[in-house]
Amino acid sequence: MALAPTWPFLCQNVTGKAPSQGRFFRHPEPDGRPARVWPVFLTYQGCPGRCVFCAQPLQTATAPAPLGATLAALENDLDAAARDGRGPYELAFYGGVFTALPEPWPERFLATARRWSQAGLITRVRCSTRPDACDPTVLCNLAEQGLGMVEIGAQTFDDAVLAASGRGHDAAAIRRAARDIPAAGLELGLQLLPGLPGHTPQGLDRDIAETCSLAPQIVRLYPCQVIEGTPLAALFRAGTYRPWDLETTLDALARAMLPLWRAGIRVARVGLAPQPGLEPAILAGPRHPALGSRVRARALLALVAAQVAALGHRPAGLAAPRRFAGEFFGHARELADAYAGLGLPRQSVRFVGREDFYLAAQPV
Ligand code: SF4
Repeated sequence: MALAPTWPFLCQNVTGKAPSQGRFFRHPEPDGRPARVWPVFLTYQGCPGRCVFCAQPLQTATAPAPLGATLAALENDLDAAARDGRGPYELAFYGGVFTALPEPWPERFLATARRWSQAGLITRVRCSTRPDACDPTVLCNLAEQGLGMVEIGAQTFDDAVLAASGRGHDAAAIRRAARDIPAAGLELGLQLLPGLPGHTPQGLDRDIAETCSLAPQIVRLYPCQVIEGTPLAALFRAGTYRPWDLETTLDALARAMLPLWRAGIRVARVGLAPQPGLEPAILAGPRHPALGSRVRARALLALVAAQVAALGHRPAGLAAPRRFAGEFFGHARELADAYAGLGLPRQSVRFVGREDFYLAAQPV
């Protein structure tokens, strides 16, 4: 392979000879900047019961409220944002089951969103829902009224885990919803919850393979936490449920990233968003303030390791796009030894102003 002249430090070894062969590769994460999201939390509205892990008031810092009050507050807040010249935003209805709200509430919320879309403040509307609340006729009606994306809380495709988590639906319902949502002209999002009762890292591997086959536009990964006041907290205290530990979770999630990215699926979130009052209410579970970036860094390590393996011998060095400089060696340089083990100690890695990576072969 001809060496690009913009990689001078890798194009010569200490003797001035060119390396025999190297490998160019790109990071597989799909392009696309995350939009500014305006979340509207419909805490527990439309829920048929309480899933064992769910603590919406703590996860979203929003107490349950009548839908009329939520809509009135939204209209006031949108009005203020428009007056202040803020935005634009994507409006996101989370925390409940939007597609199962009683009539006429979905229509009323979407009418408000439409009004502000016409004013340029709202660019898109999305919602989260349950797989068993995705009636095709309802989806089509909501799409006609301006809904753009539906994110389904799939959690897992393992029927036994779904049953143990009190979900009240099976994996077939997820597959149906994932087919009916795009058929209604809506974008699809999938939320997975690794580590539910009975779930294993191998189960997550299977979930990811199935997720890729359903081709959602985005995925969110929320490793299961034990939150005070939930049925899961009671199981944890009784010793019948143990969450995944942090290392297991980091490795399992890192393994999930590459196939998702390669399938063109954006991973929009890893881990629960921080909320006031949430942290002290978490009894157990794999969490870390930099969970997402630690997972991304391990996924990148796996990508580089595969390229080193394909090279067939220890590399002479690596040039990496500058935008990965912050995450490359991991949180507190936790991956530095692993890179050194691949033959890429710190001094052999350079960050440069290009979008592709270049793995240099051993000097000839
Ligand atoms: S997980 Fe979804 S359906 Fe279950 S209780 Fe929470 S908001 Fe409701």
